Amino acid sequence: MSADDIGRLSRNLSRRPHLVGTPNQARAIETALARLRPYGLDARTQSYDVWLSRPKSIQVSMTKPYLRSATVKEKPMPWSEDFQDVVVGYNAYSPPGDVTAPVVYANYGLPEDYAALDDLGVSVEGKIVLVRYGRSFRGVKVHLADQHGARGVIIYSDPEDDGFVREPVYPEGPWRPADSIQRGSIQFIWDYPGDPLTPGAPSVPGTKRLDPSQATPIAKIPSTPISYGDAEPLLRSLTGPEAPEDFQGGLGFPYHVGPGDTDARLNLDIAYETQRVSNVIAEIRGTTKPDEKVIIGAHLDARTYGANDNVSGYTAVSEIGRSLGQLLRRGWRPERTIALAGWDGEEYGLLGSTE
Ligand SMILES: [Zn+2]
Repeated sequence: MSADDIGRLSRNLSRRPHLVGTPNQARAIETALARLRPYGLDARTQSYDVWLSRPKSIQVSMTKPYLRSATVKEKPMPWSEDFQDVVVGYNAYSPPGDVTAPVVYANYGLPEDYAALDDLGVSVEGKIVLVRYGRSFRGVKVHLADQHGARGVIIYSDPEDDGFVREPVYPEGPWRPADSIQRGSIQFIWDYPGDPLTPGAPSVPGTKRLDPSQATPIAKIPSTPISYGDAEPLLRSLTGPEAPEDFQGGLGFPYHVGPGDTDARLNLDIAYETQRVSNVIAEIRGTTKPDEKVIIGAHLDARTYGANDNVSGYTAVSEIGRSLGQLLRRGWRPERTIALAGWDGEEYGLLGSTE
């Protein structure tokens, strides 16, 4: 294995944003294939057409007690290449919607947090719920808010969990700066992952597709993520009961749960469309048990640049390919088939691997 080669591949794959279905991701897939083939591996792509969402316009604002719009994208660093291709902060598989309602802060949005709100006599019914990242998958946060009657969800990263309270923020350190937005999927993957229109079957021509209205992993209420820089004025202006001890975060003032005179508007223009996902697959056929497969995979798509998530994982898979290629040249053959995989569309809900 060569750390230098892993480093070069990492730099290559994370130089530009490479969201599934974009020209930059097509380029990343080509880079991955071109890397595996000289190892003597039979690398190819395996494609599926899947149903996913694209943000057209994301607007989040506080409308009371004063008007203030949240930013939906970070400021670029001097070294950020193709920053115009970085997608705005949004939740993959959020429905579109335009909702204005009073805000209630619900901590991490866990069942016990709603119980604590109940004890305070605060209901989220008809409200926009403001929750912080952590302790549960963001799709669960949206699902629980919906079950409690909320009309929309705003998710933010609190500096206590991921920000200046921890240690220096990027680029001085690894923690999240004030304008950074955690993007992600809210697909209800515990229901089923993958293309929401083809549960239990690969999304290939001939597979029967559900009508989107029947796709149970897609949330019914709109939601979006914001930075703690933009959550701060919302939290600061919230009135209502003071939040319990474990609801308190790192912004340096006492959090209240609301509701009160703080309203927010979520105006999300999100289009749904069919996009192609292309997995990178390299198989080494087994000698005695070719139908038994050992799969070594990592996803190859990213929300933005993806150096950590998940280029760091994919480069390890690719480097294993180099080692296996060297063994093949010495005449070694595995008993079982070994498949190396670079999955596409993971960030939306494990799309490529599930299909
Ligand atoms: Zn990932």
